[in-house]
Amino acid sequence: MPTRPYVIDQMISPKQIAARVEVLARQITEHFADTEKLVVVGLLRGSFVFIADLVREIHLPVEVDFLEASSYGDAMTSSREVRILKDLRGEIAGRDVLVVEDIVDTGFTLSHVVRLLRSREPKRLEVCALLDKPSRREVGIRATWTGFEIPDEFVVGYGIDYAQRNRNLPFIGKVRFLEEA
Ligand code: 5GP
Ligand code: MG
Ligand code: MG
Repeated sequence: MPTRPYVIDQMISPKQIAARVEVLARQITEHFADTEKLVVVGLLRGSFVFIADLVREIHLPVEVDFLEASSYGDAMTSSREVRILKDLRGEIAGRDVLVVEDIVDTGFTLSHVVRLLRSREPKRLEVCALLDKPSRREVGIRATWTGFEIPDEFVVGYGIDYAQRNRNLPFIGKVRFLEEA
């Protein structure tokens, strides 16, 4: 998709992210300390970098699975309509589940996914979101653990894209559009 010219201003540094991931992982490890096995469910594609860092700091027996839901396409606003493009490979009935999401914005995606996964009757289900934009919320849902609360800015990096680019940036930055000449 063609986009207007833009630059990316760093908002959260790799160091800040790493420090926060360590704290989140410690809280998750404590919360699920008695688990037989924790199924960590990454929501593709935006959570792939976050989940990779997070699971390496979770000191529990872990299984990693992925689910792909789409609401956005390549646009910058939610379509409010959530579709499951790729379902889990494994069963979660009776299991401990941690859903890992990149950003909670309007809340439509997360509430849809949580409702779907709860219908499969996991033993416990919690959510860890890297970023939260509370000012944008339209559906009453919160992650159990949140990395950073951010203002209403369009962000990229650390797994998060704009039109499928910038996922490989090691920091989280905001997109700033340039005036066209
Ligand atoms: P929601 O359904 O909560 O409105 O949107 C959730 C999804 O929209 C996020 O998981 C993320 O994929 C996408 N999204 C929300 N805000 C941003 C943003 O600032 N940048 C990017 N790249 N995606 C976003
Ligand atoms: Mg997402
Ligand atoms: Mg996207």
